[in-house]
Amino acid sequence: MKRKLVLVGNGMAGVRCIEEILKLNREAFEITIFGSEPHPNYNRILLSKVLQGDTSIDEITLNSWEWYEQNGIRLFAGETVTDIDHEEQLVRTDRGRVVEYDELILATGSNPFILPVPGADLPGVTAFRDIQDCERMIEYAKTYKKAAVIGGGLLGLEAARGLLNLGMDVDVIHIFDYLMERQLDPTASKLLQRELEKQGMNFLLRKETAELFGNGRVEGVRFKDGTSIAADLVVMAVGIRPNVDLARRSGIAVNRGIIVNDYLETNVPHIYAVGECAEHRGVVYGLVAPLYEQGKVLAQVICGRKGKSYEGSVVSTQLKVSGVDVFSAGEFMDGEGTESIKLYDEARSVYKKVVVREGKIVGAVLFGDTSEGRKLLDMIQRGDSLEALSLSLLAPASSGGKESLVATMADTDVVCGCNGVTKGAICQAIAEHGLKTVAEVRDYTNASRSCGGCKGLVAELLEHMLGEEVNRYTVKETICGCTNLSREEVIAAIKEKRLMTVKEVMSVLGWKKEEGCSKCRPALNYYLGMLYPGEYDEEVESLFVNERLHANIQADGTYSVVPRMYGGVTTAEQLRKIADVAEKYNVPMIKLTGGQRIDLLGVKKEDLPRIWADLGMPSGYAYAKALRTVKTCVGKQFCRFGTQDSTGLGIRMEQTFERLKTPHKVKMAVSACPRNCAESGIKDVGVVGVEGGWEIYVGGNGGTHLRAADLLCTVKTEEEVMEMTGAFLQYYRESAHYLERTSKWVERVGLEHIREVLFDVEMRRALLERLHKALSATKDPWREIVENERLQQTLFCDLGDKEPVPVE
Ligand SMILES: Cc1cc2nc3c(=O)[nH]c(=O)nc-3n(C[C@H](O)[C@H](O)[C@H](O)COP(=O)(O)OP(=O)(O)OC[C@H]3O[C@@H](n4cnc5c(N)ncnc54)[C@H](O)[C@@H]3O)c2cc1C
Ligand code: SF4
Repeated sequence: MKRKLVLVGNGMAGVRCIEEILKLNREAFEITIFGSEPHPNYNRILLSKVLQGDTSIDEITLNSWEWYEQNGIRLFAGETVTDIDHEEQLVRTDRGRVVEYDELILATGSNPFILPVPGADLPGVTAFRDIQDCERMIEYAKTYKKAAVIGGGLLGLEAARGLLNLGMDVDVIHIFDYLMERQLDPTASKLLQRELEKQGMNFLLRKETAELFGNGRVEGVRFKDGTSIAADLVVMAVGIRPNVDLARRSGIAVNRGIIVNDYLETNVPHIYAVGECAEHRGVVYGLVAPLYEQGKVLAQVICGRKGKSYEGSVVSTQLKVSGVDVFSAGEFMDGEGTESIKLYDEARSVYKKVVVREGKIVGAVLFGDTSEGRKLLDMIQRGDSLEALSLSLLAPASSGGKESLVATMADTDVVCGCNGVTKGAICQAIAEHGLKTVAEVRDYTNASRSCGGCKGLVAELLEHMLGEEVNRYTVKETICGCTNLSREEVIAAIKEKRLMTVKEVMSVLGWKKEEGCSKCRPALNYYLGMLYPGEYDEEVESLFVNERLHANIQADGTYSVVPRMYGGVTTAEQLRKIADVAEKYNVPMIKLTGGQRIDLLGVKKEDLPRIWADLGMPSGYAYAKALRTVKTCVGKQFCRFGTQDSTGLGIRMEQTFERLKTPHKVKMAVSACPRNCAESGIKDVGVVGVEGGWEIYVGGNGGTHLRAADLLCTVKTEEEVMEMTGAFLQYYRESAHYLERTSKWVERVGLEHIREVLFDVEMRRALLERLHKALSATKDPWREIVENERLQQTLFCDLGDKEPVPVE
């Protein structure tokens, strides 16, 4: 029997430790993870980059929902562990769940410290710690102009840079004389301040906050010296406190953090702590590199291979603000018993300092040119003597004649500090697996997977090893890191070699990972289905969890069920059935969706087949990469303005195209006049009634990347709407990347090109032929499962004491 492993805290350190455990022994544990935040594990470090507009929240996920599913991990996101009973070896949660453990890891991270001053709880005051804080700041910046950031440390400055990018005026308030005093000496700090002032930041130094004031919401900050400033948004970035409440309540020894020994064990048997919540030899770390080192050691311990212990870490810092290069590591201040070597080029704003104690390099500060930071950090970590330091290392960047840095690095030198990946490990992976891009190196070695600061160095290393060849590959968009082939190349090869299964594609086309990954498996599954309608049997194990179970998984692990209602129209009989089902299965919430349907929320996985059977309605595909809904306005039958039968056409479109698998979800709408009550202008396909005909719009999106749809054409009859829409959908199916929305696809391939294809009568006819072939092969998935006991057993094996739905 597998041992039960529970992780409390679905953050960067805890999940990394689980990854290490899976690497050591995939089969040993039944793993359960609890996370208070409603998201899968994401890269918290990159929130700064999200705020600065360099990346999006969607793109910072480290482990997708599918990753948990594929590794057999039960994830309860949006659920907080409130209590640990270490006698009984179980945890309890705020949702009343009780889970037993054999081994328990606490990785509860930190809480942002909020200054205990009056007004700190006013609306408009926020910390900068999680996705919610980040979204809140982005939202405020749409309405308000003046921001104040309290705290001139790393986090405060990154937040301030983001707020400037969002168009706000920013004051940074700092209690000390100079910025980032925990990482920089006064000289580097002044240079930094000068640079940030040039970028538009305003600094208020030696200012102690007395209160935040405002009527109903924050309006300003008052200082102890009696002065004040106006502010519509106040960001507190004054430090963090290890989150130890749960541990303390549960009788685990706690000081500033949860006290752990060199094997990350707490004072209670079978309970460990890792990450920002842990205190090791009196030190609590707030950067990922040491936390990942801890995770590696703990994974060995948990897997029963107690070997190398954790001895503590030397940390280094880099600021993630574009145009400002700052690096510091180890003992960076001059003091008693230290000497330092300095280079200060004021004209070029370059400052480099190496600190030496008893002949050994113990610290460094770099400003303006940080390219040697990694090398210096290695020297500090190894305790190299001063003789090892070549003075050319400190030479100004522009002095010429410097060798490529990667060429001079030893194989044992670390390239990626966050993940502790050496030059040697990267070179080996490049050589063994034929890696060609930075993304592939990241997937294989973890280098550049966290703060991304070493991306340049990884690229340099690729270039150093592969020369000219690398440029050719870095521009090519491959399906994922498992292959060097693009989508087009893969599809051409599938057709040419008549490959029929995901596994076959991977083995014939030389996939680098035998099992592929969560990116390529669903993509290949889609491409095979699109190429061989009716012939190809979808591979359940390659599907995303929602599509596998034909219902949407929600933050708390329950599912939502959305039956289809063609064109948003329902009947009294359907409503009665839905109400009866909701009552019978204690559905906690019944909600109308934005797409004119009814959503039954909070359904238990094991109840799904019976609910579908009782409803007797087709699946609404609310979870699928397929046609979702066709929203309609009331149209000419009832509306005084309508010139067309929008509801009738909407129903016809939905009934014709339902179940059609597409590269991403597809939403449609039909409005009967240009007043556009069904919001046809922001749909993948939007149809608008005009005098004597219909306008067809394509490529709209109402989601994160709001995009107004483009007018494709105007047609006279409903017949023509069906024909154009069908051809458009089939062309999108055949030529878009998997997971590319129509909005992105239309932009990539160009509207003119799409028109050329669809207006060519022959091509349109051929597209429609292939479309109808695909449509004729579809079956309603709910019905299929309800009628197939074996499928129920495979998909819902934890039906518990519930009998499968009897097969008719
Ligand atoms: C904006 C920003 C920028 C940063 N930049 C850098 C950088 O450049 N370099 C760097 O190295 N580090 C950086 N950091 C720090 C880095 O993100 C943290 O060190 C790291 O995330 C800590 O990992 P952790 O797993 O210990 O904690 P977290 O990632 O915070 O995860 C802890 C999780 O546990 C959950 N939790 C807590 N209690 C419970 C409970 N009782 N039940 C269930 N769940 C619970 C929390 O909700 C949280 O999601 C940055 C941090 C921020 C906020
Ligand atoms: S879009 Fe026109 S026809 Fe449809 S409901 Fe609105 S006003 Fe009436």
